[in-house]
Order: sequence, then structure tokens, then C-alpha cells
Amino acid sequence: MNTQTTLIIGAGFAGSVIARELAEAGQQVHIIDKRPHIAGNAYDELDAHGVLVHRYGPHIFHTNSEKVFKYLSRFTEWRPYEHRVLGVVDGKTYPFPINRSTLNQLYALDLDEAGAAAFFEKVREPREPIRSSEDVVLNSVGRDLYEKFFLNYTRKQWGLEPSQLKAGVAARIPTRTNTDDRYFTDTFQAMPLHGYTRMFENLLDHPNIRMETSVDFADVPDHDGYAHIVCTGPIDSFYGYRFGRLPYRSLRFEHAHLADTKQFQSVGTVNYPNDHAYTRITEFKHLTGQQCDGTSIVREYPMADGDPYYPIPRDENEALFKQYEALADAEKNVTFVGRLAQYRYYNMDQVVAAALSASQKIMEKL
Ligand code: FAD
Ligand code: UDP
Repeated sequence: MNTQTTLIIGAGFAGSVIARELAEAGQQVHIIDKRPHIAGNAYDELDAHGVLVHRYGPHIFHTNSEKVFKYLSRFTEWRPYEHRVLGVVDGKTYPFPINRSTLNQLYALDLDEAGAAAFFEKVREPREPIRSSEDVVLNSVGRDLYEKFFLNYTRKQWGLEPSQLKAGVAARIPTRTNTDDRYFTDTFQAMPLHGYTRMFENLLDHPNIRMETSVDFADVPDHDGYAHIVCTGPIDSFYGYRFGRLPYRSLRFEHAHLADTKQFQSVGTVNYPNDHAYTRITEFKHLTGQQCDGTSIVREYPMADGDPYYPIPRDENEALFKQYEALADAEKNVTFVGRLAQYRYYNMDQVVAAALSASQKIMEKL
């Protein structure tokens, strides 16, 4: 039974891209997701007021990979969009990531590019080696900016001190001496013109793909009958938590619609490092370009418990993951791909790239 069929657990980027690749290569694919919808955490939908929102928080597509961008372009048209973020410090908003304008506004200065470089050189606390997220930030912008923009945001987001998190977390955020106030500087920055969910519908629209939502892997009988299994959910869950639970950070999303507000904030996202229990507010119209009366926003409240959203980059967590990874490496007929399955703080484009290369390896085995 099912000997020619591959079972894919999870219909996010990892699962859906692999499903498409295998289907186009002539394989039969059965893809399941325990949620009642496709698209994983990138799922978007019209809210009760007709505004396109991202149920699981703001997803902004950006990549330097032409290969990934071209691949997804088969399934969607795009709307150019460059994300901008402001950080609130002492009740005022500043461009974030920190750039020259941030310094000039915050400290009432008039620095040029060389002046900004000299400023950072003066205030930075050189660290060697750079191991933690605290090291990254102190090493580049020094203590005052660290305390104003990073320390409390990181405590809120992760429930940990920056010193307890690997360098890669804060290293996602650049420091600039120019006045570029974009959140990302990737070559390709765009949003799917008709939304992510529509793009996933197109990805999964293939006669060799059978998609079932609201189906948990735990409830699928006969796993052994499949030619191959691709797991894109949490790897510790797949193995029944036999070495213990891998910590994942969760979020609670508080969506709101403001019927009488045309625009709530001047940019897509405003970060609140030091105030409130939430980390940031995103206003979706900026991201989607939708023209409508009223506006919809989301606040993100970090949580210890709940759906797994972020792997937590710490040495001890990576050591635990390695134990699971050793089991995964010994599997002939099971492949683990994606942010939860590989326990990596992947962006969407990185998941697509990982899924494309995993597809090649799976096809060699089939
Ligand atoms: P997921 O999208 O998590 O898909 C895994 C799927 O597996 C889920 O749908 C889940 O329901 C399903 N599943 C799990 N277990 C089972 C089971 N037992 N049975 C059946 N199904 C199961 N990336 C960017 O590039 N730009 C951004 O702006 C950005 N913003 C983000 C904001 C937030 C708040 C979060 C949490 C992430 C953000 N990301 C962003 C990252 C992005 O969401 C991920 O890189 C990407 O969605 C991961 O795809 P995936 O397929 O690995 O996992
Ligand atoms: N960060 C911060 N202050 C901010 C924004 C980010 O300290 O205003 C730190 C924080 O530790 C966060 C990390 O940088 O978890 C990465 O931020 P990013 O915006 O990339 O996080 P994501 O969008 O993945 O939640």
C-alpha cells in the first residue's frame, strides 16, 4: 500500500515546495497538515473586515537568492515592498536597525557617514570572541544603544538575557553608518501580490498531490506503507520526545481592526523594546498595499507555551537537537526539513532553498 507515495507532514514552505518538486518528478504525494489550512506560519486570510492579514504574525519576503525568487515566481506575481521599522525609546520613534539618522535624532547630532563610524568606534565595547547576542550588540554599538533598543526587547522576546542567546540572533540586525532605513537590504524584496495562501494554493495545485488539512501525523495509520516520509514539524515530537523536549518560543497574536482609522502608524512595524508586554505592532496595509477604509494590526506577545514558532538558539538546545539529528541521519526513508524539523532560525527563503535541495536528495533515494 502506498509504496509509490511520499507522505509529507506539514504544508508550510518546506512541505509544499517538496510536494511540488516530487509531484513534478512523477511521484505521488500525500501531504497533511494538522491545522485547518495550508501555508504554515505564512498563512494569510481576509479578516472579518475584509483586510488581508497574516494570522501568525507579519511575514515579509526577502532574499538574495535569485534561484529561490525565480522558483516562487512560478506560483505568484509580486508587489515590490521594502519593510521599514521604527523603535520606540522614551516615547519617541527612531529608525531601526540603528543607522546614522537614529544617532542624529537620538543624541541631537549632525553626523556624516565618517562621523557615524567614529561615533560607533568610540562607544562600542570590543568583545573577542563574539559568542552571545550581548557580545554582538555591545561590540558594535556599545552599552547605551544596547540598553535602549536591544536588552529589553530580547528579554521580552526570548525570556532570556542576550548573554544567554547565541550571537546569530542579534546578528540578524545590522548596524549602519548610512541613512538606509530599510529593515532588509536583500536584492529581492516583495510580497506575493495575492497573498501567501494563494501562492501555496498554486504550489499545491498538481494532479499528483493529495492535500489534507486537519490531519495530524499521529492519527495517520500505516506510516510504513509510504515510500518516503518528509517531516517538517518539530523533530522532537516526531520521535516522541525521547530525549526530552526541544525548547521552542511561542507567541500570542492579538489582532485588532480599527474601523475609523485609515492609517495607524507610519511604517509596517513599530517595535516597543521597553514598553508593554508585546514586542511589536504591525499594520498589514503597509505590507500588502491593500486600499480600504479602516486598518488591521497585530500585536505579538512572546510566550513560553503554545504553538512552536522559534527554535531558541543556545548551545544546550543545539546539543539536544544533535541527539535527535543523529536519529534523523540514520533514517533511510525519512527526511527532516524546515524551521521546526531542523531546529534552525530560518527565514522563508532559507526554507525554500533547503526544501529544493532536500527534494533532490529524496528523488535520488526513490
Ligand atoms: P511551518 O510554516 O511552521 O510549517 C510546518 C507545518 O507543519 C505547520 O503548518 C504545522 O501545522 C505542521 N505540522 C506540525 N506538526 C504536525 C503534525 N504532527 N501533523 C501534521 N502537521 C503538522 N520569515 C521571513 O522570511 N520573513 C519574515 O518576515 C518572517 N516573519 C516571521 C514572523 C513570525 C512571527 C514567525 C513565527 C516566523 C517568521 N518568519 C519569517 C519565518 C517563517 O515563518 C518560516 O521560515 C517558515 O514559515 C517556515 O516554514 P516551514 O515549512 O519550515 O514551517
Ligand atoms: N531585536 C532587538 N530589538 C529590536 C528588534 C530585534 O533587540 O527592536 C533583537 C531580538 O533579540 C530579536 C532579534 O534581534 O529576537 C532578531 O530580530 P528580528 O526582527 O529579526 O526577529 P523576528 O522577525 O525573527 O522575530
